[in-house]
Amino acid sequence: MGDVIDKIIKISGRNVNLCYQCGMCTAVCPMAEYMDVKPHQIIRMIQLGDERVVEIDAVWVCASCMACVDRCPRDVGPGIIFEAVRLVSLRKGIDKIDYKAIEDLEAAPTLAMVTASRKYTG
Ligand code: SF4
Ligand code: SF4
Repeated sequence: MGDVIDKIIKISGRNVNLCYQCGMCTAVCPMAEYMDVKPHQIIRMIQLGDERVVEIDAVWVCASCMACVDRCPRDVGPGIIFEAVRLVSLRKGIDKIDYKAIEDLEAAPTLAMVTASRKYTG
């Protein structure tokens, strides 16, 4: 396993090899339809050691609701793993918000901006 995948597994503390690709995480995910790569597919990428996992947008679309964690029959914990993927992405300097691209920044709710800053930026 590469360094990136090792870090994701270490930070999350989860065992991706328990996943048998049942697809339940994707079925219960309220954000799945907006994801370029679905939750069960992200887990498969990690199983296969695919380091491109830190570049996909889907982990940033994840709302951290943890429905997938509750429903996973193998206790893999996809939502927890996605938190780790985001952390590793941030450490690699991958930021997902460009504040200059927000058209009406002053009208944006303060709480939403603080939340987004914490989740999306390094
Ligand atoms: S619900 Fe669990 S076992 Fe099923 S695909 Fe998702 S992570 Fe794998
Ligand atoms: S934690 Fe993320 S991936 Fe899991 S069900 Fe919620 S939004 Fe979907």
